[in-house]
Amino acid sequence: MDNYIVSARKYRPSTFRSVVGQKSLTTTLKNAIQSNKLAHAYLFCGPRGVGKTSCARIFAKTINCLNLTEDGEACNACESCRAFNEQRSYNIHELDAASNNSVDDIRTLIDQVRIPPPIGKYKVFIIDEVHMLTTAAFNAFLKTLEEPPHHALFILATTEKHKVLPTILSRCQIYDFSRISIADMVEHLQYVSSQEGVTAELEALNVIAQKADGGMRDALSIFDQVVSFTNGNITYQAVIDNLNVLDYEYYFRLTDAILSGNVRASLLILNEILGKGFDGQNIITGLAGHFRDLLVCRDESTLVLFEVGASIRERYKEMAKRCPDQLLFKAIELANTCDLNYRASRNKRLLLELTLIQLCQLTQAAVEDKKKALIEPISGTNPTSPGASNGQSQQTQTPPVTAAAGAPQVVSTRMPSTASVPPPASIPNQARRTSRPMGISMKEIGVEKPKPQVAQPTAAAVKEVVAPFDNETLIREWDNYAATIDKKVYLKNTMINCKPTLQENYYFEVAVHNPGQQEELINNAIHILPFLRQHLNNSRIQMRVRIVEGNEKHLAYTSTEKLELLMKINPTLGRLKDEFNLTLD
Ligand SMILES: [Zn+2]
Repeated sequence: MDNYIVSARKYRPSTFRSVVGQKSLTTTLKNAIQSNKLAHAYLFCGPRGVGKTSCARIFAKTINCLNLTEDGEACNACESCRAFNEQRSYNIHELDAASNNSVDDIRTLIDQVRIPPPIGKYKVFIIDEVHMLTTAAFNAFLKTLEEPPHHALFILATTEKHKVLPTILSRCQIYDFSRISIADMVEHLQYVSSQEGVTAELEALNVIAQKADGGMRDALSIFDQVVSFTNGNITYQAVIDNLNVLDYEYYFRLTDAILSGNVRASLLILNEILGKGFDGQNIITGLAGHFRDLLVCRDESTLVLFEVGASIRERYKEMAKRCPDQLLFKAIELANTCDLNYRASRNKRLLLELTLIQLCQLTQAAVEDKKKALIEPISGTNPTSPGASNGQSQQTQTPPVTAAAGAPQVVSTRMPSTASVPPPASIPNQARRTSRPMGISMKEIGVEKPKPQVAQPTAAAVKEVVAPFDNETLIREWDNYAATIDKKVYLKNTMINCKPTLQENYYFEVAVHNPGQQEELINNAIHILPFLRQHLNNSRIQMRVRIVEGNEKHLAYTSTEKLELLMKINPTLGRLKDEFNLTLD
């Protein structure tokens, strides 16, 4: 290997046809040369490693070729072509503006512009990274660019077009180079492999192409690295080991766990991945990408956006069939949110785990929705109102509708299913789960918890009882409920101290003194409201719990109130009291 040449150089394209992944662009350039419609200045823009400089060199060679081929390519045989290929041509001058960006550098170049070419027709000046020129250098260059001699042709290249002065832009023909597609890169890598006598698994080349992120030069450099690492036998496993790429197998396994709502499995897989030393943020962005790939696989029309190799395409399509669109939308969103919060998170592992838990719950919600859809036609006479057949039992069992207010839509769609399928044990759980987010959000609001009335048209409209009642009766039943409370002393005291006030539309309001009391009432609303609805014969009763403002503070009179006050100052006291079941006597 004493004459080793890196692949990026060895396989540098020498004709327009051999440029990878820029077909329409090279065709345009070729046509311009053939029809002899050349501009004096070109601007090649695009990401690094996509062939800008290569195209500029081929262009310079081709316009000077003394014996163009029929399809407009350089012959690579004439004296000019040979001079170009042997890098001894006087017709090409390259300036790397990243390191030579001063006025003097430009002046040296301008001096060269005046001298006509010794052979061929054009002198070509390639200025790489042209956006790096200083303003003074730009201005010095501008005069030459405005009135160049006939034999001079400029090709400016840049990765950052927006940094090039508008006065320059307006004098150039602009060509935008695009990222090279994975498929094009893989094809070229296959060609290079065959030329080098290297065996390579298609999926392995695919990983290299993905890692190179659209740049052929990077892809070839990674390729060289892998070739030396694997002694010319490039396998998928060797590539992911060498490049520290996470095996897509893990994403398939994670998706399986998520689809079956298996939180434990998903956490164990995460643990396995983290144990291999992968960075959490890469894992989550990879997972987001995986969901995205599954999404584009779900429809023939978006399949063009799928850049994973053909070898595992079928597997993606297979899994995509099992993932509903809605689930994927939400999964991508969750993964993306995790990605955004990752840097700021102080417990990154927990954030990842929480995201996985949420992802697994997506499917559970989906499963329940499906269950609901299956049950509907059986239990309800009217398929649009699943609660119809057992509205009565629902009034005593269904958690208060208010508890669901403000919670994500999942809750309200899930409600009828709980009502129509009466597994008694599951209802409190369900209700507690739905009321939880509300409790949290109200605490954040702090002062008043807005409880918009959720109409729940399907369930409530059915067998509704709306008997009138007054504030006195309300308080009486409120106290009656409080009297039934045995163990929850904090709740009992709150109910004794904070009385409801009837508002319009069967709403009542309870003014409490602290967030602890508010939370206590909200968490127990699932028991209080059904009791009141039943005893007052009114299924529309709703509760609003408001924390009174500081200036509404009243003095503590009774021993209960004193305790209340103390608990407000030190909430631990309340918990202590509850924990040991203490009472005031
Ligand atoms: Zn030639």
